[in-house]
Amino acid sequence: MLLISSATFAQNTPRESLDPKVTEVWDLKPKKITPAPKPGDAPSDALVLFDGKDLSKWTDGNGGEAKWEVKDGAVTVAKGAGDIKTKQTFGDVQLHIEWRTPAEVVGEGQGRGNSGIFLQDRYELQVLDSYESVTYSNGQAASIYKQSIPLVNACLKPGDWQTYDIIFNAPHFSDYGRVLVPAYITVLHNGVLVQNHTQINGPTEYRGQPVYQPHTKAALRLQNHGNPVSYRNIWVREL
Ligand code: MG
Repeated sequence: MLLISSATFAQNTPRESLDPKVTEVWDLKPKKITPAPKPGDAPSDALVLFDGKDLSKWTDGNGGEAKWEVKDGAVTVAKGAGDIKTKQTFGDVQLHIEWRTPAEVVGEGQGRGNSGIFLQDRYELQVLDSYESVTYSNGQAASIYKQSIPLVNACLKPGDWQTYDIIFNAPHFSDYGRVLVPAYITVLHNGVLVQNHTQINGPTEYRGQPVYQPHTKAALRLQNHGNPVSYRNIWVREL
């Protein structure tokens, strides 16, 4: 009854007579940070994962030294060196990463400039030369591999540096391993929205349907698919 009468009161009260101060929030303040002078560079509260100099924040797949090639401010997939992943584990993140497929075009489809960014070691945002190369749409650049086609193809030409700005929300599981909330991902590719709060249906699978397995925080992993794809300016903000 009280709810009904206050709702009635709100409906009948002209807005002009309401005190605007009642809906102002003053006691809570967002933390002040310093954005980078150049868009895409790390703000003051970011953790820089690769600054162009070394792979000290990374390991190989087995916890050993990451052996991709660091040169001229970039890190490049090295033959036989496997995937690399961060030493630190993450849940919800904002991630900025820049990538470049080889200027010299070799191969077709999934064999042309293939790499990938695995959020939480499992969920692949595809990296591929999809500028003038055809493959299955849910496997092209900026797809959530085998799950979600990008909204548009925002690829630059091979040899150009490209950006991904990613917002990733980790999945939540019950104590018994049931999915309470699936993972979600939003991606801007070269500043263009390509994944808009896309639901992830489980870990990336090459064959068959994905099935969630409960997990906690996990590393960010970069894929070695045998093509010399490069990365630079990688930073993350835990959310
Ligand atoms: Mg890939």
